[in-house]
Amino acid sequence: MPENILIAIAWPYSNAEIHVGNITGSHLPGDIVARYHRLKGDKVLMVSGTDSHGTPVTIAADREGKPVEEVYKKYHNGFLELFQGYGITYDLFTTTHTENHFKVTQAIFLALKENGFLYTDKSMQWYSPSTRRFLPDRYVEGTCYICGFEGARSDQCDNCGNVLEPEKLINPRSKEGGALELRETEHFYLDLSKLEPDVKEFLTQRLSYWRDTVIGESLRKIESEGLKPRPITRDLDWGVDIPVEGWTEAGKRIYVWFEAVIGYLSAAIEWAKVSGQDEKWREWWVNPDAKQFYFIGKDNIFFHAAWWPAQLMGADSQFLKIFAEEEKPLTLPYDVPANQFMNLEGKKISGSRNWAVFGRDALTRYDADALRYYLTVNMPENKDSDWDWAEFLARNNNELVATWGNLANRVLSFCYKNWDGHVPDLEPTSLRPADLELLSAIENGFNSVGAELNAVRLRSAIGEAMKLATVVNVYLDVNAPWSAIKTDRESAGKTIYTALKAIDSLKVLFAPFLPFSSERLHTFFGYDAPLFGEQYTEDVNDSLGTHKVLRYKNFTLPGVHRDDESEARAPLWKPSDLKPGSKLNQPGPLFKKLEDKVIEEERARLGK
Ligand SMILES: [Zn+2]
Repeated sequence: MPENILIAIAWPYSNAEIHVGNITGSHLPGDIVARYHRLKGDKVLMVSGTDSHGTPVTIAADREGKPVEEVYKKYHNGFLELFQGYGITYDLFTTTHTENHFKVTQAIFLALKENGFLYTDKSMQWYSPSTRRFLPDRYVEGTCYICGFEGARSDQCDNCGNVLEPEKLINPRSKEGGALELRETEHFYLDLSKLEPDVKEFLTQRLSYWRDTVIGESLRKIESEGLKPRPITRDLDWGVDIPVEGWTEAGKRIYVWFEAVIGYLSAAIEWAKVSGQDEKWREWWVNPDAKQFYFIGKDNIFFHAAWWPAQLMGADSQFLKIFAEEEKPLTLPYDVPANQFMNLEGKKISGSRNWAVFGRDALTRYDADALRYYLTVNMPENKDSDWDWAEFLARNNNELVATWGNLANRVLSFCYKNWDGHVPDLEPTSLRPADLELLSAIENGFNSVGAELNAVRLRSAIGEAMKLATVVNVYLDVNAPWSAIKTDRESAGKTIYTALKAIDSLKVLFAPFLPFSSERLHTFFGYDAPLFGEQYTEDVNDSLGTHKVLRYKNFTLPGVHRDDESEARAPLWKPSDLKPGSKLNQPGPLFKKLEDKVIEEERARLGK
C-alpha cells in the first residue's frame, strides 16, 4: 500500500545565502527521503518556502535602503536557483508572503482563540519617540544583564544564550540611532502551559523512534522547565495581519515564530490550488495515516517538536471548521529527524565573515552529485560534523570516483565495445553459483538500504550502498572478464551480464543520494522513462502581488508526464530486470577526479 509522506523542510530566512551547513542540515536529507519514497511508489508531498517576515529582513532592507519586498525576493530567487542546481525536488517551494499563507495563519490563530488558548497581556517594550514606533528585539542592542556581553539583543543574548527581558538590558541603544524609552504595549499570548500535558503525551508516543538529541531538546526540556506562554504578536508593520479588529491598525502583526511553521500547512494548501486539485492537500493533513517528516537543524527543535504540535493540537478540529466548515483534526508530525551543525575546517560557519562554502558558489566548480555525496557521508545526524576540503577531495576520488563511478564506467564501456553496444545475450539459467550469489547480495540491498532510509539514517544508508559497490568490484577482480574474454568469451559474457545487472540495481540504490549520475547511468542502460521528474518555476499571482514558486513534475510512462505529481507511480525501488541482449547507449564517466591543488585553492578563499 502506498503511504502518504509529507516532507516538511525548514523555511530559510530571507536575509542570507544558503551554505553547505544549511543544505546538509535540512534540504538535502529531506530530498533524499522524498526521492526514496517516490521510487518506492509512495505519495510524496515535499514543501517549504522562504520565511519572508521578521526583523532580520526589515533590518537588511533598512540597511540597503530598499523596500522589504525587494530584499526578500532577491534571496528567494537565489534559493530557487540553488535548489534546481542541487536537485532539491520541492513539490512546492513558496514564501510566507502570500494571500494563502495569511488566510491559513489567521484561521489557526482564530481556532486557538476560539478554543481558549489565547489571552492578551501587557509588557514593557523599547519605544523610539523620534520615529514614533516600538522597536522589536533586534532593533535594540545593549549589555547583557546576565553575562555582561555588550552586543546582546533586547530579547536574547547570543553570548550566553539566555532569553532576556527587554527592560532589564543595560545601556540600551537603538540600531537606528536616536533616543529610547520604555512604554507599555499589549500583545496576544499562546497559553502553552495549558497544552503542556498534550505535548508531553505527543512526545512520549514518539519516544521509541525519535533521535535522542531531539528528545533531549524537547520532552526532557519540557520535563525540567515546563511550557511557558509566549507572545504571538508584536509591534512591527511587516508580517501577517492580526484577524482581530484594531490590532493591525495599531501597527502590530503576528509574530514570525508563530506563523512560519504554519507554512508547512499553507504550502500544502497552495500546492493543491496551483495543481488544480483544491482538496488534495488533505491526504497529508487531514489523514491520521499520513506520515509527516520535519527536516530541520538543531536550533529549531523546540519550534517543531513542542510549539508546532501545541499549535496544531490547540487549533484541533476548529481550524478546519473555520477554513472549510468541516470538523476534523489536523495530522500531527510523525518524526522530526533534526540534524546537528556542520562546521567548516574546524570553525563555526559564518556567512558574514565569509567563513562559509556557499551553495551556489560551490556549484560553479563542482558537480551537484559530488557535493551531495560529501554532504551525505558527512551529514551531522547525531553530532556536529566538519566540512574539510582535504576530506572532500579524498571522499570524491577514493569512493565516488574509484569505487562506484569507475565500476560502472569500466563494465559498461567494456561491454559496449566487446558486445557491439548490447548486453551479452545469454540464458539467465546458465548463470553460475557465484553470479547468483552476487545478484542475491545486491538484491538484499533493497531491504538493507531501504530500512536505513525508512529510519532516516542516511549516512548508514549510503554507506551500505557503497559497500555493495565494493562487493561487485571484488567479484570482478576474481572473475577478471578483461582477460577471460581472450580465452572464454561465454564465461566473460556471464561475468559482464552479472556485473551489469548488479550495477543497474546499484543505480537505483544510489539514486536518492546521487540523482544526476543515476539518471545518466539509467540512459546508458537504454531505458526510455527517466527515474525522476523535472523541476520548474512558475509565477503565482494573488492580492499581495506575484511570487515565484519552484515545483516538481513527476513522470510516468516514456515520454508522458502528468500534472498530478502526487499520484503513486509503478515502484522503481526494486532489483534490476535487465534483459540479455538489450541495447545500450554509449557510456561515459559519471564523476570527475579532483586534483590536489583544489584543497589549497579552496582554503585560500575562506575568511576573505
Ligand atoms: Zn549574556
